[in-house]
Amino acid sequence: MLLDLSRISKTYQSKGHDVQALDDVSLSIDSGEFVAVRGPSGCGKTTLLLVAGGLLAPDGGTVTIESRDPYGMPANERAQFRGSTIGFVFQQFHLVPYLSVLENVLAPAMATGLNGAKDQALELISHFGLEHRMHHIPGQLSTGERQRTALARAMLNNPKVLLADEPTGNLDRDNADAVLGFMDEFVKGGGAVLLVTHDDNAAARAGRTETIQDGRLMRDPSTIAE
Ligand code: ADP
Ligand code: MG
Repeated sequence: MLLDLSRISKTYQSKGHDVQALDDVSLSIDSGEFVAVRGPSGCGKTTLLLVAGGLLAPDGGTVTIESRDPYGMPANERAQFRGSTIGFVFQQFHLVPYLSVLENVLAPAMATGLNGAKDQALELISHFGLEHRMHHIPGQLSTGERQRTALARAMLNNPKVLLADEPTGNLDRDNADAVLGFMDEFVKGGGAVLLVTHDDNAAARAGRTETIQDGRLMRDPSTIAE
C-alpha cells in the first residue's frame, strides 16, 4: 500500500473550545488509484490532506507512506521524504507572487537539490501548456494557468502520490476538465491521486469515492461492491 491512514483523529483548539476535524478516519490508496473524498465546507477535507501529506501530525492514529511513518522522522528528514514522495496542490495554489512560473515550478528542487531540475521544469511547463507564460508572475496569469503552474510544481520531484485540495474549485468547466485529465494521466502512469472536493463533477472522475461528514469518513454505497 502506497498511502495508509489508520484511525486518524485530529482536534483543533479554537477560541477556548475544541473542534474535532477528523474522527477515526481510515483510508488506503495504492499506486494507480484515483480516490476522491467529497464533502461540504468545514467537514475536514483540508485537514485530511495535510495529515496525509506529512504536514500536520494527527492526535491519534497512524500515517504510513511507502511503509514509513513521516511523523516518526525528524523534521528535516520528513521534509526530504515529503519532497520525494508527495506532490501537493493547495486550495489557493500557494504560488509565490513575486516568482515567475518557471521559478515557482522549480521551487521544490531548492529543498531536495534535484539534479536536472531545470530541464524537468521546462518539460513540465511545456506539458502543461505554459511555455508562453514561463517568465510571467502569478498575478499575470489566468486562474487556469495558475492551477496548471501549481500542478507542474507538484509534479517536479516525480511524486508517487498527488494530494489535491479543491483543485477545480475556482475553475470553469474547460479548465477543470484539463486539470482532471492530467490527474487521470498521472494515475494511468502508475501514480496515485487523493483529491478532496465539494465538487461532485470532480469527484465523479475518481475510481473510488468516499464522503466525509463532520470529520467521519463514509464509503459511498455505490462503490462498496468493487
Ligand atoms: P474543509 O477543508 O472540509 O473545509 P477543514 O479541514 O479546513 O475543512 O476544517 C475542518 C474543521 O476544523 C472546520 O470546523 C474548521 O473550522 C476547523 N479548523 C480548520 N483549521 C483550523 C485551525 N487551524 N484552528 C482551528 N480550527 C480549525
Ligand atoms: Mg478545505
